[in-house]
Amino acid sequence: MTDSTQFPLLLEPLTIGGMTLRNRVVMGSMHTGLEDRVWNTDKLAAYYAERAAGGVGLIVTGGFSPSVTGQLSPAASTLATPLQIPRHRRVTRAVHKAGGKIALQLLHAGRYGVTPYKTAPGTEPSPIHPFKHIRMTDFMIRQEIKAFGRAAALAHASGYDAVEIMGGEGYLINQFLCERTNDRTDQWGGGTENRQRFLVEVIRDIRRRVPRDFPVILRQSIADLVSGGQTWEEIESMARKAEAEGVDAINTDIGWHEAKVPTIVTSVPRAAFVKYTERLREVASVPLITSNRINTPEVAEEILARGLVDAVSMARPLLADPEFVNKAAEGRPDEINTCIACNQACLDHVFEGKKASCLVNPRAGRETTLILGPTRHALRVAVVGAGPAGLSSAVSAAQRGHKVTLFESNDSIGGQFSIASRIPGKEEFAESLRYFQRQIEVTGVDLRLNTRVSAEDLKDFDEVIIATGVTPRIPEIDGVDHPSVMTYAEAVLGRREIGRRVAVIGAGGIGFDISEFLTVTKSPTLDLEKWEQEWGVDDEFPGFVTKPHAPAPAREVFMVQRKPGRQGKTLGKTTGWVHRATVKMNGVEQISGATYERIDDAGLHIRLEDGETRVLAVDNVVLCAGQESVRDLVDPLTAAGVNVHVVGGADVAAELDAKRAILQGAEVAAALG
Ligand code: NAP
Ligand code: SF4
Repeated sequence: MTDSTQFPLLLEPLTIGGMTLRNRVVMGSMHTGLEDRVWNTDKLAAYYAERAAGGVGLIVTGGFSPSVTGQLSPAASTLATPLQIPRHRRVTRAVHKAGGKIALQLLHAGRYGVTPYKTAPGTEPSPIHPFKHIRMTDFMIRQEIKAFGRAAALAHASGYDAVEIMGGEGYLINQFLCERTNDRTDQWGGGTENRQRFLVEVIRDIRRRVPRDFPVILRQSIADLVSGGQTWEEIESMARKAEAEGVDAINTDIGWHEAKVPTIVTSVPRAAFVKYTERLREVASVPLITSNRINTPEVAEEILARGLVDAVSMARPLLADPEFVNKAAEGRPDEINTCIACNQACLDHVFEGKKASCLVNPRAGRETTLILGPTRHALRVAVVGAGPAGLSSAVSAAQRGHKVTLFESNDSIGGQFSIASRIPGKEEFAESLRYFQRQIEVTGVDLRLNTRVSAEDLKDFDEVIIATGVTPRIPEIDGVDHPSVMTYAEAVLGRREIGRRVAVIGAGGIGFDISEFLTVTKSPTLDLEKWEQEWGVDDEFPGFVTKPHAPAPAREVFMVQRKPGRQGKTLGKTTGWVHRATVKMNGVEQISGATYERIDDAGLHIRLEDGETRVLAVDNVVLCAGQESVRDLVDPLTAAGVNVHVVGGADVAAELDAKRAILQGAEVAAALG
C-alpha cells in the first residue's frame, strides 16, 4: 500500500544526469568500516541492500580513495585497479536486485589521512591527525587528477549508477580550495582560480573517462566553518565552474572535521544549514541536494516545499531505520526509528577504527548476524522495566511473534531516556520514546504501567527478561542526607526546586548533562539564531566563522570530580568536545582532584589536590556519581528455576550505556526460541 499524500514532494522522482531516482531521499555517504576488508564485502552488500529494499532513492557509498596516498588509514578502502571490480560488482548487484541505485564516493583524504604516506597541497599539518604529510609536487598533483578519472571509470565498470566527488569536510579537494591549507604559489595555489584548478581538473578528467549520461555528483563544501575557509563568492564561482565542467548535481556539505562548530550532533538545530544550499540556487541550475540534521520525513518535505532544493541527503537516519522511505510512503511515519544524532554507535565507532552500527538500531551493520526473524515457537515472555534495554527486548521479541508482557513501575516508558530527553540539546531522545511507544502498539506488547512485579508474579512466564535498570549512586559523604542534596534524576524530573548556585558531584556523561541542564537558559536546538551566535556562525565572513557570543548562564555551577586532570575524557569521541565547550561557554567552574569532606548549611566542603580546603557556598548539591544495578528479582527467579536474562544497567551499571542496553535487548530477543 502506498500513501504518498503526506510526503508528495519527497516521493517524487528526480533525474540527475542520465539517472532517474524513484524519490528524493539520498542516503549520504558514511563510512561503516565494512568497506575496508574484502571479507566484509557481503556484509556491506547486505547493509546497502536492506536500505535499497527500504525504498531510498539513491545510496552513496562511504568514501573510496582513488589512490593509496589518499587513504583514510592504512589498508582503508580504495578503488584504484580493475582487480577490485568483481568485489564492487557484488555490492552493486545486491543493491540493484533490491530495487535501488548506488553511487560510489571518491574521497582523497589529503592531510586527514592517518598514514605516514599521505599527501596534501600545503605545508600546514592537520591539527587533528598524527603523521606529517608529504607536500604535493606538480607531478603528484597531476597523478592524483588522473587517479580520480581512473577510479570513476572503474566505478562505472563496477556497475555503480553514479560517482560522487568528495569536495568537502576538509579532505584533499577542500584543502586545495582554501587559503587555510593551500599556501602554494604555483598554478595550484594563490588566487581563487588557482585554488579551484585542482577540482576543475578532477571533474574534467572524470568527465573524459565516463559516458556523458553517467552522473557525476559533486559534494561541495558550502560552509567550511573554519577560518581561512572559502568566501560565499568563491563557493558560488566553484558551483558555476562545476556545472560548466559537467557536474550533474551538487550535494552540499558543511564543516571541516577540525571545525570548532558542531554540525551534526544532537544539539544542532534541525536543518540548520539548509539556507546555504537554498542560497546556492541563485547560481546553480543542476539539482541541489541538501544535508545535515534532517532526520524526519516531515522536515524533509518542508524543505522541498520551499522549492529551492531538489533532494535531501540523510546518512544516519538510514542507519537508524532502513525502512525510512517505505514507512513514509505507506503513511506510517510515526513508526520510523528516528536517528537521535548521538553519534555513539556510528561516527564514534568510525573514528575509533571500529565498525559502524546504530545506537537505536543495533542491526545496522549486523544485517547478516543479528537476525530478528519470525519465531516458530511463540513463547510467553515477561520483560521487567521499560527503559532502553527493556523496550528493545520487548519490541524485538514481539516483532518475532512472541507474546510479550512489559512491566514498568513508573507511569510512563523511557527510563534513563526520559531523563536524557529533558536535557537541553537532547530533545531528540523523545523521538526514540515515540518510536518504542508506537512499536508497543504495532507489535501488540501488553504494556503494564504503574506495575511493580514480584518474582512470584513472573514464575509462569516461559522467559523473563530483567531490565530493571539502575538507581543513582549515593556517595558516602558526610551530610549527603542534607536537604540541599538531590540526585540527578530528581533534579531533571523537576521533583525539587533548585537554587542559583549549585555543585555537581561527578563529571561523567551525566555530570556534564546536568551542568548543561542547570546553566542553559533556553535549548539552543530550538533557536537557530541563538545557536549561531553561541557558536559564531556567520556567512558574512570567510569560512562563515566569527567570534562566538556566550549566553548568560542561568546558574552558577561547580562541577567536581575526585580524579585529577581534565574533565570529560570519557565522553564520546565526536560529541565530547561539544559538551566540554558548552559547559565552558556557560561558565561552569570545573574542579578536579577534589576530596569531599562534608555537606552542610554552608555548602559543599572539599579539599583540593594541594591540600587547601574550599567551601563551595551553594544552595544545592546534585549527585551524578554513577549508578548501581537494580537486580533484586534475579536471584529469586533463578532459584525458582525461571529462565532469566539480565540486560542493560541491571546487568552492568558501571558503564550504563544505552548503546549496549539496546543491543543486548535485541540479542536476547533474537536468541529466544
Ligand atoms: P560515569 O561516566 O561513570 O561518571 C561517574 C562520575 O561519578 C565520575 O565523574 C566519577 O568521578 C564520579 N564518582 C563515581 N563514584 C563516586 C563516588 N563514590 N563518590 C563521588 N563521585 C563518584 O557515569 P555517569 O555520568 O553516570 O554516566 C553513565 C554512563 O552514561 C556513562 O557510560 C556515559 O558514557 C553515559 N552518558 C554519556 C553521556 C555523554 O556522552 N554526553 C551523557 C550521559 C550519559 P570521580 O570518581 O573522579 O569522582
Ligand atoms: Fe543516529 Fe545515534 Fe544511530 Fe548514529 S548511533 S545513526 S547518531 S541514532
